[in-house]
Amino acid sequence: MEALPRTLVPNTNALLLDGKAVAQQVREQLKPRVAALRERGIVPCLAVMLVGDDPASHTYVRTKAKACESIGIRSLVRHYPADTPQATLEAQIDAWNADPTVHGILIQHPVPKPLDEAALLRRLDPRKDVDGITPASLGALVAGEPAFGACTPLGIIRLLDAYGIPIEGKHAVVVGRSVILGKPMALMLLNRNATVTICHSRTRDLVRHTREADILVAAVGKPEFITGEMLKSGVVVIDAGYNRVEGRKGDVGDVDFDSAARVASAITPVPGGVGPMTVAMLLHNTVLAAEQQA
Ligand code: NAP
Repeated sequence: MEALPRTLVPNTNALLLDGKAVAQQVREQLKPRVAALRERGIVPCLAVMLVGDDPASHTYVRTKAKACESIGIRSLVRHYPADTPQATLEAQIDAWNADPTVHGILIQHPVPKPLDEAALLRRLDPRKDVDGITPASLGALVAGEPAFGACTPLGIIRLLDAYGIPIEGKHAVVVGRSVILGKPMALMLLNRNATVTICHSRTRDLVRHTREADILVAAVGKPEFITGEMLKSGVVVIDAGYNRVEGRKGDVGDVDFDSAARVASAITPVPGGVGPMTVAMLLHNTVLAAEQQA
């Protein structure tokens, strides 16, 4: 296994946390496991339900399918128009739940309204919930029981571990409390014995909290919201955000990278930080699901 690059952000003391490189390591580690399954006649398979015509969702689904195929996971994408009856989608979930050749199921978010995405998620067999976001999987995370972890926070933990960044005893501040990101992130950090603060839109004096962070996770959905002035020296900054901004090329994170890198001891870039780790963890969970069901 190739050593990880240990590159500093130019003109700073901040280590660049290279999600692309760690994701590549994860993929390499998965390849022999996929080969071992195939030797037993089991082809790991991820089924993806894509509803409607959201261009970003189509791009994400294509990226995930390509990543699956790159390591020998079969990718099965079913695209449904936005006016598909709820019952049709539920029947598809039921069929995949019952199909032994499908090991993981992902319902691409968002499912357009008035369709009921939550009802679809509740229907999904937790043993196939490789995205880790059904109430059953999140409940297991709270209870400390085995379940698939939500891919983005799981990828963040894996990235911290890959660089040997200690979590235990640290004060982690998570800005954002969404079900797919902020909440499971906070729980995973807590399960690793961090002291965790969760901030959200009603938090008073946000800066007072962010300045306390040894590890700061930005999951806000607002471009460059967290700036260097909001952080203390030596903080590890994880930027989970990606935002399209009019007139700017590419995705913009939730952190103002330049000012944050001047005070941080380590920081993730956007792109190339958390994003590739999310996809890598989806592959990881799918292989694990196939192993567990074999
Ligand atoms: P979300 O559902 O919109 O949640 C955003 C959270 O930020 C909410 O909890 C909200 O608080 C909080 N917030 C909003 N304004 C705030 C403020 N002024 N101060 C403090 N907190 C504030 O977003 P999400 O789905 O968690 O996504 C967050 C970011 O991560 C987005 O940029 C998204 O694109 C990105 N993302 C990346 C990946 C990846 O693979 N890299 C995966 C998923 C998401 P309330 O709860 O009070 O409203």
